[in-house]
Amino acid sequence: MNLKIVKYPDPVLARPGEPVTEFNAELRQFVADMFETMYAGQGIGLAAPQVGVSKRLLVIDLSMGKDPKDKLVLINPEIIVSEGRQYEEEGCLSFPEIREKVVRAAKVRIRAQDEKGKWFEMDGDDLLARCFQHEIDHVDGMLFIFRMSALKRDLSLRKIRKMQRDGEW
Ligand code: ZN
Repeated sequence: MNLKIVKYPDPVLARPGEPVTEFNAELRQFVADMFETMYAGQGIGLAAPQVGVSKRLLVIDLSMGKDPKDKLVLINPEIIVSEGRQYEEEGCLSFPEIREKVVRAAKVRIRAQDEKGKWFEMDGDDLLARCFQHEIDHVDGMLFIFRMSALKRDLSLRKIRKMQRDGEW
């Protein structure tokens, strides 16, 4: 099922998600729906708060559906190591049309549970590291515009207000 993606400034996006405690069929269906929704929106990452569900869960697929090995499900995720620095452009399905450069760590190691509740660790660099940080921010109630420089944030917020006025948001 294709879920509805909520846009900024929906308050659910600013709220830290609740930990996931039940690893059941309902959760697996929700994960499947998250992938479907992310592919429909042509994104490479999607966090539960972005579909209005305040939970610590996210999905990532850098191949956008082309390689099943790239499908990642991170439940109750956290960053346990981060190093280096990268400064690249990011977008977000909750901010259509907004793309700006954001400072992120170059490499991170994450710890998370899979759909069955099993804990695992994984390293990511470059785009995957950025995606981990962007999506884990979402489950913490943090948004990428607040990682931008004040100037870029103001420009983005102005662009959003204009789109809101024009009925395009
Ligand atoms: Zn996002």
